[in-house]
Amino acid sequence: MNTQQVRQTVVDLCARLSRQGYLAGTGGNIALRIDAARFAVTPSATDYASMGASDVCVLRLADLVQVEGERSPSVESGLHARVLRARPDVHCSIHTHQPVASACALAGLALDVPPGALQRTLGGTVPVVGYAPSGTGWLSCRLARALRADTNAYLMLNHGVLCCGRNAQAAVQAVEDLETLARQQLSRLIAARAAREPLLRQTLQRVGDALAG
Ligand SMILES: [Zn+2]
Repeated sequence: MNTQQVRQTVVDLCARLSRQGYLAGTGGNIALRIDAARFAVTPSATDYASMGASDVCVLRLADLVQVEGERSPSVESGLHARVLRARPDVHCSIHTHQPVASACALAGLALDVPPGALQRTLGGTVPVVGYAPSGTGWLSCRLARALRADTNAYLMLNHGVLCCGRNAQAAVQAVEDLETLARQQLSRLIAARAAREPLLRQTLQRVGDALAG
């Protein structure tokens, strides 16, 4: 793909992930490798519903110098660059505040991935990366230290998620599979706790009845 095609792909990815509820408002961001030296990244604080290809920034991978795009790049550009530098096999890096996996990130709950399709996408475990404020070099360093060649999803404590893949489709699949896995594991934990605690069981029953009614 040429630069324009990559920038348009970033727009299309944002639209798709927004529709699915993984990117709310201006939250979350996406980076897509153009070639060995450059990557495209979403602009900072831009409504993804109205974003066009010309809004997508192009940065040099080595030093984050902006070479195209009139808007400022995402504050998480450094985070994505660390992923793209450390993992030459990765062409797409996606940061989201997706609802259920982010709940796991808030709880500091690392996820074991069962063998099968999810493990092929995500790897054997989804680790928790220690907290650092958004957009900081501190957060980038923490994530970089946690990166593994066989792991494509990471929970950033008290913040959100980073998923990556060999192409855009694989990275989106990791986002979707991580949400599925997080939902399965949280449901199991809640059910196990409800089995021990009658009050919680009754509350969940009432919530279920209210949602059904
Ligand atoms: Zn974030």
